[in-house]
Amino acid sequence: MTKQISILGSTGSIGTQVLDVAERLPEMIEVVALAAHSNVDLLAQQALKFRPKLVCIGKKELEPELRSLLDGSSIEVLAGNEGWIAAATTDYADRVVVSVAGTPGLMPTLAAIDAGKEIALASKEVLVCAGEIVTQKAAQHGVKIVPIDSEHSAIFQCLNGEDVKSVEKIYLTASGGAFKDKTTEEMREVTPEQALSHPTWRMGRKVTIDSATLMNKGLEIIEARWLFDIEPENIEVVIHPKSIVHSMVMFSDGSVMAQIGLPDMRLPIQYALLYPLRYDSGLPRVDILQVGSLEFSAPDTKRFPALKLAHEAARIGGTMPAVMNAADEVAVQLFLDRKISFLEIARLVERVMEMHNPISHPSLDEILSADGWAREQTSALTGGIGIGSNL
Ligand code: MG
Repeated sequence: MTKQISILGSTGSIGTQVLDVAERLPEMIEVVALAAHSNVDLLAQQALKFRPKLVCIGKKELEPELRSLLDGSSIEVLAGNEGWIAAATTDYADRVVVSVAGTPGLMPTLAAIDAGKEIALASKEVLVCAGEIVTQKAAQHGVKIVPIDSEHSAIFQCLNGEDVKSVEKIYLTASGGAFKDKTTEEMREVTPEQALSHPTWRMGRKVTIDSATLMNKGLEIIEARWLFDIEPENIEVVIHPKSIVHSMVMFSDGSVMAQIGLPDMRLPIQYALLYPLRYDSGLPRVDILQVGSLEFSAPDTKRFPALKLAHEAARIGGTMPAVMNAADEVAVQLFLDRKISFLEIARLVERVMEMHNPISHPSLDEILSADGWAREQTSALTGGIGIGSNL
């Protein structure tokens, strides 16, 4: 049976790999809608290749350009917020891939759930910021959220046919990022280029920096907390440099299930697109003999304080994870722009979290205003006051 999919964020790192999977499985997957923020050339190329019913460009001023690039193609062209919502709710789609960078994925995800679409979710910020609202809404509508994030796909697969109540613990594996073996002293001077060279995974810039600080794993703790309805204290991060075991679940009888595969995002993507089907798309296989040994170790939260901050935000809940996420997004951008140092990313996030009075069981408006507040505070802390010495 063919799956009709709409891809929100088709020109990013995940979006392009979703299309790579779709191209390998033309008999299984039909792309019916594509939406992207601003990469109008790539979006037009994708549209001409996959022939969706509609495309949306987020940045409204680019709409005329997209129209002219698709002139004569009979593909419907939309733009702006209404365009995102139309792509998320179109009758042509039965599954919506959410791979929008950051919090802008939230509103279209909620609209897609309201429209009863199955969700293949790559944007972890959606659950980090509004996990309670999103999972409650999905339950109300009987909508399944299938994660694309490799660790969560692993856990999801390990839980197939299991009762989630029998889960004792989740082991979330982490590669350790670009600076796994560096001392704090050595991390003081690292450049964006060094932080952007990830040892095992090919990913976007924001998530690669988050992997180097371990904030990515922190966000994933919160993501797992909501996806699998498990208390944050039962989620344990383990460093596993080869990224072959994508995560593990320990059950109440002491049995541990793990999912193993190459570190290739196309595998969890395909699983989320076709779930519950398994199908051979010719992706490369893991050679278990070549892998040889598997190593696991505990993370060092002194060197990587972001992990501790995330556990704290997960425990406090309410608006705190949204604040942490927003502060981190701004801090990572400041680091990429060479305005702050690598170590200042986590310090800045910590400062903003300390200043925040969290609201429990927040409404969507309260989450969005906490997000906006955190962004302002993070920028304000770095404007003028010589952040290097004060943090
Ligand atoms: Mg991940």
